[in-house]
Amino acid sequence: MHDELRLVRVSEGWPQELVGYRVDVTEHKQMEDRLAALTRLYAVRSRINAAIGRLRDLQKLYEEVARVAVEEGRFRMVWIGAVDEEAHRVAPVAQAGKVEGYLDGFVVSTLDVPEGRGPTGIAVREGRVQVVNDWEHDSRVALWREGALRRGYRASGAFPLRRNSRVVAVLSLYADTPGFFDDDQVRLLTALSEDLSFALTAMAEEEKRRTDEQAVQTSADRYRAIAKASGQVVWITDAAGRVTEFSSSWQVLTGQTPGEALGRGWQEVLHPDDRKRTEQAWSRAVAEMSPFETEYRLRGRDGVYRDFWAHGVPVMAPEGGIREWVGVCIDITERKQAEAALKESENKYRELVENANSIILRWTPKGEITFLNEFGLKFFGYPEDEIIGRNVVGTIVAERETTGRDLQLLMAKICADPKSFESNINENIRSNGERVWIAWTNKTIVDSQGQLSEIMSIGSDITARLAAEKALSRRNEELAALNALAHRVNAGLSLAEVVAAALDRAFYPASPDLALLYLREDDRLILQGVRPELLALSRDEAQLGMGECLCGLVLKEGKPVYSPDIHADSRCTMTACKEAGMRSFAALPLLSGERVLGVLGLAWAEAQDVEGQAGFLETVVDEIAMGLNNALLYRDLQQHSKELDRRVRERTEQLQAANKELEAFAYSISHDLRAPLRAVSGFAQIIARRHRAALNEEGQHYVDNIVLAGERMGSLIDDLLAYSRLGRQSLKLQPVALGVVLSQAINDLADRVAATGATINLPGDWPVVLGDQTLLQQIFTNLLDNALIYRQPDVAPDLRVTWTIEDGQVILAVADNGIGIASECQEKIFNVFQRLHSDEDYPGTGIGLAIVKKATEMLGGRVWVESAVGQGSTFFVKLPEG
Ligand code: ADP
Repeated sequence: MHDELRLVRVSEGWPQELVGYRVDVTEHKQMEDRLAALTRLYAVRSRINAAIGRLRDLQKLYEEVARVAVEEGRFRMVWIGAVDEEAHRVAPVAQAGKVEGYLDGFVVSTLDVPEGRGPTGIAVREGRVQVVNDWEHDSRVALWREGALRRGYRASGAFPLRRNSRVVAVLSLYADTPGFFDDDQVRLLTALSEDLSFALTAMAEEEKRRTDEQAVQTSADRYRAIAKASGQVVWITDAAGRVTEFSSSWQVLTGQTPGEALGRGWQEVLHPDDRKRTEQAWSRAVAEMSPFETEYRLRGRDGVYRDFWAHGVPVMAPEGGIREWVGVCIDITERKQAEAALKESENKYRELVENANSIILRWTPKGEITFLNEFGLKFFGYPEDEIIGRNVVGTIVAERETTGRDLQLLMAKICADPKSFESNINENIRSNGERVWIAWTNKTIVDSQGQLSEIMSIGSDITARLAAEKALSRRNEELAALNALAHRVNAGLSLAEVVAAALDRAFYPASPDLALLYLREDDRLILQGVRPELLALSRDEAQLGMGECLCGLVLKEGKPVYSPDIHADSRCTMTACKEAGMRSFAALPLLSGERVLGVLGLAWAEAQDVEGQAGFLETVVDEIAMGLNNALLYRDLQQHSKELDRRVRERTEQLQAANKELEAFAYSISHDLRAPLRAVSGFAQIIARRHRAALNEEGQHYVDNIVLAGERMGSLIDDLLAYSRLGRQSLKLQPVALGVVLSQAINDLADRVAATGATINLPGDWPVVLGDQTLLQQIFTNLLDNALIYRQPDVAPDLRVTWTIEDGQVILAVADNGIGIASECQEKIFNVFQRLHSDEDYPGTGIGLAIVKKATEMLGGRVWVESAVGQGSTFFVKLPEG
C-alpha cells in the first residue's frame, strides 16, 4: 500500500486541489508515474513561460521548447514543425530527444492526402489536438509506424500552435508509453500550447513593429541619400520643426554656415515677403503631421533671390508621434522662368487671337464651335454664350450657299478630312441673316494621342473684294467690248461698217435678243438694219416719225428711253417687237453734240434691268455715235473734195490755156516788134553815121539816144524771145558733162572777166547731169554774168564754183563776193522783169534769173539763193545726176 497524492481538479491547466489516496501498490505505482509526469509537465510549462518572457527569437524559443519538453517532461522525442502554407508542408524546425534520423526526409502534408492524414496534418487542418496513444495499432500513423516503433515511440500528441488564430506550427511530443496522454495531460499540454500561441502572436507583432520601424528608417535614409545625390538641399528638423541638419549644399547655396542655419537661423535667407506664409504652412504641417509643401525665395550667397520648392515629410517614431522631419529644397527658378515665359507667350497668343482682325474659330470634328474670338463674335453678331457649343451649320453656315452649293455637305467633308481643306472659300451667314463670303484657312489640332481633336479656322471677309473683282472683271469685259467696238467703228470710216458694228449684239451687256438701228433723215428715222434679220418689220415700222414709238421718242427728246416691259408700256406703239417676244427695251440716241444722228434700239426677251445697264450702254452708244458722226463727216468730205478736185482741174485747165495764149501772144509781139525795131534802129544808126555833122548838138544828142534805146529795146526783145521760146522747146534729156558747159560759159564772158579783173575758182573735176546742153548753157551763163555784174564797186569779183551730190542730185553752187541780196528780195528776183537796181547803176533786163528758173524747172531741178547784203551771194542749182 502506498499513500499517494493525486490531483483531483485542474482548472485552466493549473492544479486546484490535491487529494491523498491510499491504494494498491501496482496501481499506486502507475498513479505515481502519472503524477510525476504531470508534475514534470507543470515544470515544463513554467520553464517554457520563462523562456517566452526571455527569448525574442522564435527559432530559439522553438528549440528551447523542444529541449525543455525532453529534459523536463521526459518525452522520448519532441519536434516542432512549421507550416509552410505555400508548399502545403509541415517542416521540422526544432527537435530534441531520441530523434535518430526519424525526421530525415520526413514528409507531412497539410492537405488531405495520405501524408496529410497523420496527426500533424490533421492538427493543422482541423486546428485541434491529435493524440495517438497506441502507435502499434492506430491507423492514422500507419505511414510512420515502423520508424516510430523502432525508435520506441509508443504514444504521441500533436498540438497546433497559432499566431493570431492561424495554425502556424505543430508541437509533437512522443512518449515511450502507450496511452501516455490522458485527459489531464492533454489539458495541461493544450494550455502549454496556448501559452506558446500567445507568445507567437506577440512575437509576430513585435517583429512587425520592428520591420515597420526599420522600413521607415531605411526609407528616410534612402530619401536623404537620394536627395543628397541630387545636389539639392536636404534638411532635417526635430519634431517641433527646428532644423537639426542641413546638407552641405545649403552652405554652397546660401553662404550660411551650419551654425548660422540651424534652428530657425535659416529663415534669415528667406525672402521677407515669404516668411509669414512659409511659417503658417510649416506650423500647419507640424500641427497636422501632414507633409509640408510650399514655394519661397531664398537669398543666394550672391545676394540674388532664387525660387525654391520646399517639401518635407514627417518621420514617425515607432511608439507613435513624429520623430523628425526630412525635407528638400529644390531650385525651381528656371522652371518658374520657363513658366513665366510660357505664360507670357500664352498671353501674347491670347492677345493676338483676341485682337486679331480676322475671325478665329475652333470647332470639333462634329462641327461644334468651341471658340470664336472677339472679332469673330462681333463679325457674326453673336454673344459668346449663344454660339459656343453650337454647330457651325445653322449658326454661321447656312445649309445652302446662294450659288446653290450644299454647305452642310461641305462642312461634313471638312470635318471628315480637314487636311485636304487647308483653305476654302465659302459663303457664311451673320446672325442678322446677311450673307458674307469668307476665305478660310484651316489647321488641325491633335490631342496628345495624335487624334484629331479640333479644327482651327482663320477667316477673312472677302465679300467686298469679290464684289470688286466681279465689278472689275465686268468692267474689263465692257472695256474690251468697247475697245473692239471702237476699232470697228473707226477702222474704215465707213458708214456700212459702223451700222454693222452697231447691230453686233456681242457689244452690249447681257447680249440683247434684238438690235435695230435707225438713222435720221430730216425729221424721220429710217431703219438701217435689224439683227437678227428674221424680225419682220412693216413698212410703217421701218420709218418712224418724231415721237413715234420708243425710238421716235428718243429722236424727239434726244435722251435714252428705257422700258423694262414693253407690253405694259403705252409709249411703245409698234407691234413687231412685242410679237417677236421681246420684253425689255432700251432706245438710245446716237448724238453728235445735241443733234440726234440716229437711234439704236436693243431688246431682250427676258426681263432686264435695262436702266441698271444705262452707264455702259450709253458709253457704247456714244462710241457708235462718234463712229457714225465720223463716217457721215467723211462721206460729206469725200463728196466735197471730189467737187473741189473737179473745180481745181477745170481752173487749172483754163489757166494753162490762158497762159499758153499769153506766151504765144508775148512771143508773137516780141517777134513782130523786131522788124519795126530793126527798121527804127537801122535808120537811126544811118542818121548817126552819115548825117551826124548836119545836125546841131541837140539833134546829135537825140539821135544818140534813139540809137541807145533801140539797142536796149533789141536786147529786151531778144531776152523776151529767149524766155518765151523756152516754153515752146521740146526737150531731149541726156547726160551732160558740166565742166564743158561751164568753160563754154566762161569763154563767152571772157571780155567781162578781163574788164573787171575777176578771178574764177573752179573745181578739179565735174559731175555729169541729166539735162540739155543749151538750157544748161543759158543757166550758167546768166548766173556767172550776174556774179560779175553785181560786184562791189572797186572790188574785183572773186567767183567760186563748187558742187556736191545728194540722193542722186547734183547741187552746183556759184558764189560771189558781190553786193548781196536782201532776204526779202531773194524770192522775187526770179520773176520776169524783176530788178533791184536802176539801169544806170547796173544795166539789165530783169529776165536773166527768170530764164534760169524756168530752164532749171524744165530740167526737173530747182534754183535758190543764199545771200546777205554786202556779203556776196551763192546761187544753188540742183539737177538730177546723169
Ligand atoms: P538783170 O540782171 O538783167 O537785171 P536778172 O533777172 O538777171 O536781171 O536779175 C534780177 C535782179 O537780181 C538783178 O537786177 C539784181 O538786182 C539781182 N541780182 C541778180 N544776180 C545778182 C548777184 N549775183 N548779186 C547781186 N544781185 C543780183
